[in-house]
Amino acid sequence: MKGRAATVVWLREDLRLDDHPALTAATETGGPVVPLHIWSPAEDGRWAPGAASRWWQHHALHDLDTALAGAGARLILRKGSMVENLVSVCRATGAVAVYASRRYGPVGAGEESRAAAALRAAGIEWRLFPGALLFDPAIIATGAGRPYQVFTPFWRQCTGQGEPRAPLPPVTRLIAPARWPDGVTLADLSLLPVRDWSAGLARAWTPGAAGAKAALKRFLAEAADTYPEGRNMPGADGTSRLSPYLHSGELSAHRVWHAVRSAGRAVRADAAEAYLRQLVWREFAQHLLHHFPHTAEQPLRGEYAAFPWLVDDAGRRAWQKGQTGFPIVDAGMRQLWETGWMHNRVRMIVASFLVKDLLVSWQSGAAWFWDTLVDADLANNTLGWQWAAGCGADAAPYFRIFNPTLQGERFDPEGSYVRRYVPELGRLPARWIHQPAQAPGDVQRAAGVRLGDNYPEPMVSHTAARMRALAALKRMPSRREDARGA
Ligand SMILES: Cc1cc2nc3c(=O)[nH]c(=O)nc-3n(C[C@H](O)[C@H](O)[C@H](O)COP(=O)(O)OP(=O)(O)OC[C@H]3O[C@@H](n4cnc5c(N)ncnc54)[C@H](O)[C@@H]3O)c2cc1C
Repeated sequence: MKGRAATVVWLREDLRLDDHPALTAATETGGPVVPLHIWSPAEDGRWAPGAASRWWQHHALHDLDTALAGAGARLILRKGSMVENLVSVCRATGAVAVYASRRYGPVGAGEESRAAAALRAAGIEWRLFPGALLFDPAIIATGAGRPYQVFTPFWRQCTGQGEPRAPLPPVTRLIAPARWPDGVTLADLSLLPVRDWSAGLARAWTPGAAGAKAALKRFLAEAADTYPEGRNMPGADGTSRLSPYLHSGELSAHRVWHAVRSAGRAVRADAAEAYLRQLVWREFAQHLLHHFPHTAEQPLRGEYAAFPWLVDDAGRRAWQKGQTGFPIVDAGMRQLWETGWMHNRVRMIVASFLVKDLLVSWQSGAAWFWDTLVDADLANNTLGWQWAAGCGADAAPYFRIFNPTLQGERFDPEGSYVRRYVPELGRLPARWIHQPAQAPGDVQRAAGVRLGDNYPEPMVSHTAARMRALAALKRMPSRREDARGA
């Protein structure tokens, strides 16, 4: 009897076997399954993965290949044109269908429409399955049928849909094709840096499904119950650190949602709710990018396109290097460089500092994050930066400008976070750690702090910078108009 035809499963931001609707459906055909990943950065244009994301992806792909081997399969890697590789892998294996998880946002949508056209022209079935989101952005809309631009009604509308579906069990067995198609090796993708700067990333992270599972377990056991209090304190491990796993899809949002929901009495109801709310911020970000794809580069509030950003290369570089003279900003930027991740509270502080204190554009901050974050995500990054600049949906009002010293004192009162990433200030008493320039000379000397020598003087006066930002913002035409295209 002739066997069933093969199905290619095109893996992109869904690098796992657990809770994978496309992979599960492919196994249910009863035929062979060919897992395929195509590396084609040129087609992603300026949104090709940045350096830290490439490092992550290398390890995540390696982990996925190992998991697939355990299920009797392998991961075929190709590079170059997506559509040519999709068609040629189908031809080589006699596959009659390509299944994929939907990606949201402009890059994924572009890939999907090119794949659909090429595969249909080649007589190959093309099926898209639900992707990384709990709630389909195409279904969630205001009463007037328009996209949401404010989070709380969006949250209500999502949670009003009922619980997201339960996660599917992991795929444990795949039927191999009669002959595996050829592919390239992981090393051929050249995802790792040539001059290796990744030791800090490797110390901080274990990419792959096992690392994801361990991070979720740690969060549920140690931090979930106190999430509302802990999530704002960068010196403590009070958040889940699941963002890179959620971005690359080594862990599904459904798995996380239900793990938190079913934690029972181990997690307070209000703490579970607070965490699920953050997961829905991720949905909100994707919702916005889906409906306003231009916002990856342009402000959602159109009037901000005319904002007089400064070109300040020296200021931008000092910010990137964590040499601003504001300890909480410097600690955050150094945490980012060293570990490929930054605490959410500190992301807000450093973003505010760049756009409000230095008047450097949110786009250049977003570009630096894009290159250095292991969780770089076009939707979340765009939302975060536009929020900080005041030009996005549900953004901070223009007159709210974070004071980095007060933020540090409030959210890192003992200075443990600053001490960890800015060791040259490590011996300052907590009283002065967020404002070393104000510490009496003998305190500075006793702590070994030499301003302008081993730690910079503050690069701006925050009070003056704040006045300058407010003046620039006030001069903008129709500042408070609603977003264009809303
Ligand atoms: C300027 C700026 C840039 C950002 N860039 C990114 C980015 O590129 N990638 C990214 O994943 N997040 C980004 N964020 C959002 C947030 O900082 C991270 O998701 C969070 O710090 C990840 O840590 P965690 O997994 O421990 O979060 P938790 O507090 O444990 O939250 C759980 C999950 O909810 C989601 N989430 C939490 N907060 C947000 C938020 N504010 N917006 C959207 N989703 C959220 C994330 O998927 C996160 O993993 C950015 C925020 C700001 C202010």
